[in-house]
Amino acid sequence: MSVDKAFREMVRNEIEAQLKPLRDLVSRLEAGTADLDRLRSVAEQLAPLASAVGPLFGAGGGRAAVAAPARRGPGRPARSAAAPAAAASGGGKRRGRKPAAEGGARECAIGGCGKPSRTKGYCAAHYQKLRMLEKTGRRPSAWVDYAEPNSVDDIKLPRGRAAAKALAEAAQKNAG
Ligand SMILES: [Zn+2]
Repeated sequence: MSVDKAFREMVRNEIEAQLKPLRDLVSRLEAGTADLDRLRSVAEQLAPLASAVGPLFGAGGGRAAVAAPARRGPGRPARSAAAPAAAASGGGKRRGRKPAAEGGARECAIGGCGKPSRTKGYCAAHYQKLRMLEKTGRRPSAWVDYAEPNSVDDIKLPRGRAAAKALAEAAQKNAG
């Protein structure tokens, strides 16, 4: 019986240790994939459920790929396989999309965009653009994190040949 208790304790610690990389993974993937609210809520649900999930731990391995079609980082598969089962059997309250996405969400920081902000004050599309600009060394100084809604001017990216030129120039500027 105390062995059983120790085992549960170990399982709980293991799950909690797994949660942090999962959360980090979620925030890293956030810009890239549209439908990560689900994965995020899985991570949030896992925390309070850690003890309930104990018996299921390691039992439901093979379905992770089905539950999480999005790309994932190296290392263990995310624990998402255990979560739906736990949510279903545990009878906990289910949470869909973040309510912020519908009701009184702040709008995107980019002026005239009008979409609800999702990450650091930007809507999904503009946050993706921001990340791309940052990665290519072209992030405008006005595009700060958590900018006020509608306070930042969008920029028009060059296309075609001009785009390649702009990229090369930015790369050179960053190197030199
Ligand atoms: Zn936007």
